[in-house]
Amino acid sequence: MWKYHPELLERPVPRYTSYPTAADFNASVGSPDLDRALKNVRLCDDMSLYVHIPYCDQICWYCGCNTDRANRTHRLTAYMKALFAEIDLVAAKLNHRGRVKRIAFGGGSPNALFAGDFKALLNQLKTVFQIDGAVLSIELDPRSYSAEWQELMVGAGMDNVSLGVQSFDPAVQAAIGRVQPLDMVTDMVAHLRATGVTSLNFDLMYGLPDQTMDILRKTLEQTIALAPERIALFGYAHIPSLIPRQRQIDDTHLPDARQRFDMAAFGYDFLTRAGYQPIGFDHFALPGDPLGQAGASGTVRRNFQGFTDDQSDILIGMGASAISEFPDLIVQNEKNTGRYRACLGQGQLPAAVGISRNFNHQMHGAIIEQILTNGEADLATLGGAATYAGRLAPFINRGLIEIVDQRMKLMPSARPYARSIAATFDEFRGQTAGTFSQAV
Ligand code: SF4
Repeated sequence: MWKYHPELLERPVPRYTSYPTAADFNASVGSPDLDRALKNVRLCDDMSLYVHIPYCDQICWYCGCNTDRANRTHRLTAYMKALFAEIDLVAAKLNHRGRVKRIAFGGGSPNALFAGDFKALLNQLKTVFQIDGAVLSIELDPRSYSAEWQELMVGAGMDNVSLGVQSFDPAVQAAIGRVQPLDMVTDMVAHLRATGVTSLNFDLMYGLPDQTMDILRKTLEQTIALAPERIALFGYAHIPSLIPRQRQIDDTHLPDARQRFDMAAFGYDFLTRAGYQPIGFDHFALPGDPLGQAGASGTVRRNFQGFTDDQSDILIGMGASAISEFPDLIVQNEKNTGRYRACLGQGQLPAAVGISRNFNHQMHGAIIEQILTNGEADLATLGGAATYAGRLAPFINRGLIEIVDQRMKLMPSARPYARSIAATFDEFRGQTAGTFSQAV
């Protein structure tokens, strides 16, 4: 069982889906840099594509994603036109270089689109990229799983499907503005299984308003009964000053820091006892699933989609706010859909901000990724353990990490502190710490 050290969790820290993090992006990096990076992709480079749909039929109050209501047809039509233009532009810059290993559709909710529009999007990708054999993933909102989408999914060839669930408890669902009965999810899972989906993920949350330990336990039991191969159990990050829609959540009903910690610990214990393998600090996978296999072989990676078995060093994001990642560059597209469309209307790549990753960033990023994915890191590459002795002392003194021959290893009880430990290797923190969420 994990031991609670509140003093180690006091400091808000990034989730480190990249290093440097999005908080460190700046406007001096943009379209010319992305243009150059795309032209530098080699014929033999493996790469993954991410396509962002920033719309949902209903907006959940807790959501921190870049998404908006999909309530106007002309808005979706205009967005899709720009997205198609971006896909064509990126493909032209790549000029058949790079091998597409994966395509992920996220948002928002891709199934906020009309099924016909999504089909056209898939066809467009097939036309301009060589995607035979690529692993296809999609995030779906059970509330928008219409008859048309059910029909589409039969032949879509999706390998991984991720469902936003959060909690099965009706009172908690009402308190977070996301009401979707258990039957709705059960029926959807049965349908997805019938279409051949073999890797299903449920996104769950702890730390939600009115959520008790018993409520969390029941949701976990109901989840296990539906047997998703993957489960992500996130801590709800309540930052209404940054995410105005969260003001609809009554923060007097939120669990406190100690309760959050206990929920995270309970979830870990429950899921590992149920046969799930822990992946990083908040993901779980069955051993037979590709993510579980990556966990067992120490090859899990971390990117903008979380913990993944994706081994590509190149991720090309398309759509408003999508992020592209190369070994020496990270760039993010315009978040505002109007400006995104305007760039593409002028035939320009819509990158707005980013950061060049120098050698130092890459070395620190590798250490942070190793800590979060495998729970160990070779500090010799960063000048040796002595350089970090002072900053790591609070973790060493509590028996959470040990260092032998420059190699740092996190103990099993250090899992909830992994982000805080990773943050000791973050050269950028200090000035911007206040914009992040609680470490657990
Ligand atoms: S469906 Fe997902 S992306 Fe859309 S508002 Fe809800 S949580 Fe956010």
